[in-house]
Amino acid sequence: MPVTPEQQAEIDAQRAMRHQTARATVPGMEAHLYEAKPVLDHGFIRVIDYMGDDNAITQAARVSYGKGTKSVQNDEGLIRYLMRHWHSTPFEMCEIKLHVKLPVFVARQWIRHRTANVNEYSARYSILDREFYIPAPEHLAAQSVINNQGRGEALQGDEAARVLEFLKADSNRAYDHYEEMISEDGQQGLARELARMNLPANIYTQWYWKVDLHNLFHFLRLRADSHAQYEIRVYADAICDVVKDWVPFAYGAFEDYRMGGAQLSGRGVECLRRMLSGEEVTQETSGMSKGEWREFMAIAKPN
Ligand SMILES: Cc1cc2nc3c(=O)[nH]c(=O)nc-3n(C[C@H](O)[C@H](O)[C@H](O)COP(=O)(O)OP(=O)(O)OC[C@H]3O[C@@H](n4cnc5c(N)ncnc54)[C@H](O)[C@@H]3O)c2cc1C
Repeated sequence: MPVTPEQQAEIDAQRAMRHQTARATVPGMEAHLYEAKPVLDHGFIRVIDYMGDDNAITQAARVSYGKGTKSVQNDEGLIRYLMRHWHSTPFEMCEIKLHVKLPVFVARQWIRHRTANVNEYSARYSILDREFYIPAPEHLAAQSVINNQGRGEALQGDEAARVLEFLKADSNRAYDHYEEMISEDGQQGLARELARMNLPANIYTQWYWKVDLHNLFHFLRLRADSHAQYEIRVYADAICDVVKDWVPFAYGAFEDYRMGGAQLSGRGVECLRRMLSGEEVTQETSGMSKGEWREFMAIAKPN
């Protein structure tokens, strides 16, 4: 269960509260505030707070560029210009604070993004819940044969059932032992900070994660991408759904230039020009490695 009835009551109370403010607020974002959006089997993301909007980005840009921004008349055009030219600091004027519940192995990938502020649930201080990520059958995939860092077709039949059984039984057995070790019934009870070490990486943890929009876009570029592991990608996708309601112009520019756009090397640009002028260019004549060529062709001539 992503949120308990007590947590839901707390969320409802937070959502019912109203404060008067002279600060800029965004109706689309106000609608998301505090609400837990389910991700995976027990996880969620929820917006705890935010600062800034599309206007905060253009305001900051107009301070730094002064009269130079006059040539770009509207806010959307200016935001697209900033994104296109990698002028990132105006995007740092917006911030978001999320409460995230996620499996530990997803948290390990997530925490690699160092440009954020984090406070995690303490398993030294508190007892972790018996909540483990068990993939849905369609996500119980075999090892990919073409990508060591990827997965292939979903497991079927007996193999799928056996793997699911391992995952469930191992998680529960580890948790039973965790509970037994910390129990103070007729024994001293092992410290929580030590007992937790036998828990598997699919147990859920929680944290508050605060990040500015520039670094959030960097995170989303990498983690909402098809190369990211499914289990972190679904969190990134859920965050994208929030961000598009928060800063629609900035998100639109991000989608266009970063998610939908492509980056070419100098050789790539040269090859593209040769191809456009009618020349038959091959990997051998391109000056690119096989890997580079494959990635280049996926941009230049998909399928
Ligand atoms: C598909 C995928 C596969 C991956 N596989 C692996 C793997 O096999 N093994 C592994 O270890 N990691 C792996 N990673 C993690 C990856 O290498 C990065 O650590 C992670 O994506 C965070 O990126 P970042 O450092 O750019 O982000 P952040 O830490 O958020 O930093 C954002 C930007 O800030 C700047 N910055 C931050 N800190 C510093 C610093 N100390 N010095 C200089 N500049 C800084 C950099 O410009 C950086 O790009 C993988 C990531 C992805 C998306």
